[in-house]
Amino acid sequence: MTPLGQDLIARISRTGPMTVADYMTECLLHPRHGYYTTRDPFGQSGDFITAPEISQMFGELIGLWLAQVWTDQGAPSAFVLAELGPGRGTLMSDVLRATARVPGFHGAADLHLVEASPVLRRAQEDALQGHKITFHDHPGSLPDAPLFLIANEFFDALPIRQFQRGKTGWHERMIGADADGLHWGLGPETALEALAGRLEDTKEGQIVELNAPALPIAEDIGNRIATYGGAALIIDYGDAESIGDTFQALKDHETIDVFSSPGAADLTAHVAFGPLARAALPARASGLTPQGVFLEELGITGRARQLAAGLSGAALETHIAAHRRLTHPEEMGTLFKVLALTAPDAPPLPGLDPNPLASP
Ligand code: SAH
Repeated sequence: MTPLGQDLIARISRTGPMTVADYMTECLLHPRHGYYTTRDPFGQSGDFITAPEISQMFGELIGLWLAQVWTDQGAPSAFVLAELGPGRGTLMSDVLRATARVPGFHGAADLHLVEASPVLRRAQEDALQGHKITFHDHPGSLPDAPLFLIANEFFDALPIRQFQRGKTGWHERMIGADADGLHWGLGPETALEALAGRLEDTKEGQIVELNAPALPIAEDIGNRIATYGGAALIIDYGDAESIGDTFQALKDHETIDVFSSPGAADLTAHVAFGPLARAALPARASGLTPQGVFLEELGITGRARQLAAGLSGAALETHIAAHRRLTHPEEMGTLFKVLALTAPDAPPLPGLDPNPLASP
């Protein structure tokens, strides 16, 4: 058991079972033993690899998307360019490179990063040398201005709670401990307003997840965009609504037991985009668009061909595999979804299904 695991077992023995959300928060962000607070987990040698780390094409296309949407909205002369959970800073660095020649874009952009991990803040400063960065602990402190925001694999890292449907209502899944380690248990029946509608689309024994911290973040972003203009682009694995248990631990690119390495494995849950879109009202939500479709609409195949022309051998193989990995339905193309938010009267967005995921 990891040092954090031993701490948690002792704590549960003293003060009782903990929620999945408390467990996730401790494992990911504990000041001394947390997964994100103590390491850079990305890349081949890390535990997982994200889209911007797979290929520069991902960030370049998102950069051009942002520049197009900014232009379509009349090119506001001062705006906040923000990212939630920027990881190594690779996505933002590709966005800035791809937009360097868009007239006026860099001059108007004020760069703000929301990042909890001190280790990753340093990596982001390194990746974005030459750009002025303002860091935030929370999106609530972003300045009031048109907001162009990206969040790739941010919401999946926020702590979820899980509820299992019993005979007559919901029981929270709790984490207990004994001499053998951590184990699952169920709390007493609870009635939560957020679960009220879910008796209609679930059966006894099924699990529903609630990403409580995501909702006020979506609400805040939605209000800013509805008031000042701009757009948010949220990309993650998940679906319109939470369906079943998606809580998972990842270490060395393998899925492992969620209790086996507290603080030393990444913990995530799929994102339910419908609740985010509803929380963001009055901002207008796009339809939920598969990542593969979005990237194809933005022209990833043309860009891939252009880059391929300068490559050969192993580098070309890697490049072809990266294109496939980002877009193919059996890889990230369908599992990952894209949701965008704009002001209700904003022009249509490139690459996204226009049928809103939530309506007022
Ligand atoms: N967007 C990056 C990294 C995704 S990993 C990429 O695509 O590669 C999740 C990121 O969110 C990390 O940077 C992590 O430190 C950050 N993060 C996780 N929980 C957070 C929280 N509660 N507040 C701010 N940042 C958080």
